[in-house]
Amino acid sequence: MKLLEGKRAAIFGVANERSIAWAISEAFHAEGAELAFTFAGEVLEKRVRPLAEGIGSILPCDVTKDEEVEKVFATLKQEWGGIEILIHAIAFANKEDLSNPYVQTSRAGFHLAMDVSAYSLVALARHAAPLMEGRKGSILTLTYMGAEKVIPNYNVMGVAKAALEASVRYLAHDLGPKGIRVNAISAGPLRTLAAAGISDFKTMLHHVAERAPLKRNIDAAEVGKTALYLCSDWGSAVTGEVLHVDAGYNIMGM
Ligand code: NAD
Repeated sequence: MKLLEGKRAAIFGVANERSIAWAISEAFHAEGAELAFTFAGEVLEKRVRPLAEGIGSILPCDVTKDEEVEKVFATLKQEWGGIEILIHAIAFANKEDLSNPYVQTSRAGFHLAMDVSAYSLVALARHAAPLMEGRKGSILTLTYMGAEKVIPNYNVMGVAKAALEASVRYLAHDLGPKGIRVNAISAGPLRTLAAAGISDFKTMLHHVAERAPLKRNIDAAEVGKTALYLCSDWGSAVTGEVLHVDAGYNIMGM
């Protein structure tokens, strides 16, 4: 029997075939999960629809719009009755806030990054929880080391990821009694659409390859495999964790 046979996963955050959420979807599909994808805006629909074709349904959802979030979960309830897995692989900040000094972050830029990148997990978890009751649900989000240490140019996104990681722990506490686990993967840098917004991203990749214990960068499929562990029965006693998938980079002091 496959690892995720009979499990249904709602995947938020596929933009294209480079997306971390797509690598997770491929790993889940190979292990028998049923998938539903969301997309944010018409431009991305054109990218996501052909990817999803044949392996899952697609639904619109901009996480800053409460009515779209509500509609996705109402549709999932109607079509599936419930879900076992929620993947949250969503982040956004204004481009200037990922290049200017952090001290220049505007109130509006701070709110936007927090809303899309951190609060959205809380909103999605609140809607997913009733659909997961009695099903050993698993919620997984994506974070980055910029939450823990200063990474030049990551700026407001690092602060949003710190809030996201704290939310993982609070949500794990709230939802644990319902049998729902909440975890995060802290991935090493990967060339994706979101990463293209971070100034000097190439330097991050070189730096990791030089300094990480494994002397290389990671690939998205490695995040997919770890997601499989965390969201399947293999991770049944793991909740509230932030698991680094970064070739060991985060352990280094010098
Ligand atoms: P990506 O661009 O493929 O995915 C980001 C997703 O966020 C996109 O699908 C986009 O549509 C979605 N999104 C942005 N604003 C949204 C909104 N208002 N409503 C709904 N969706 C919205 O890039 P990715 O690198 O795969 O990013 C996925 C997650 O992984 C993000 O949380 C990112 O911070 C995190 N992460 C990325 C890296 C990296 O180096 N690429 C490293 C660690 C963590």
